[in-house]
Amino acid sequence: MLQKTLIIIKPDGVQKGLTDEIIRRYGAVGLKVIKRKDTMAPLEIVEKHYPMDPGYLRSIGKKTIAAGQKVKSPEDQGRNVVNWLRKFITSGPVVVILLEGDDAVAVARAVTGFTDPSTAEKGTIRGDLGTDSILVANKEQRPVYNLIHASGSPEEAEKEIKLWFGRGAGN
Ligand code: ADP
Ligand code: MG
Repeated sequence: MLQKTLIIIKPDGVQKGLTDEIIRRYGAVGLKVIKRKDTMAPLEIVEKHYPMDPGYLRSIGKKTIAAGQKVKSPEDQGRNVVNWLRKFITSGPVVVILLEGDDAVAVARAVTGFTDPSTAEKGTIRGDLGTDSILVANKEQRPVYNLIHASGSPEEAEKEIKLWFGRGAGN
């Protein structure tokens, strides 16, 4: 089914000069760039993009535990991470991209790879081009640098596309 999804090349990806290579990799799995916006991410959009939703915060905190660090409360840890993340995403230029293709959400997620580049599968963008780890990032009190955001589900994609490319998003 023809579908749209949203990816964001985060400040670390742009800074490392990986924008073209990342777009090439999505193209290689059949995803086409429909819209592209090179911008500084506005904090009001980022706050909605990475919400302080309890379930989402817990899922992020659990990734710290899975990486081998003990935490008292996954939700509190998730809140810390989201605060670091919001600050990081607004710290430098990003590239926001609307992709279209067959089964675009799942295909984009598969080629993006797991959140933690140190354990992401080889052949994925994060696994091949990422160099950071969740464990190191948490010790340094910052988000893990993993180059890209990719919508996690069709619902997330719909919400994020409206947020970044809908009316009122400054297009
Ligand atoms: P994904 O981007 O793989 O969908 P999440 O939505 O869970 O991952 O988290 C959003 C972003 O927050 C991640 O891409 C990563 O940069 C950062 N992040 C998530 N969990 C952690 C964590 N436990 N420690 C540090 N950074 C994290
Ligand atoms: Mg996510």
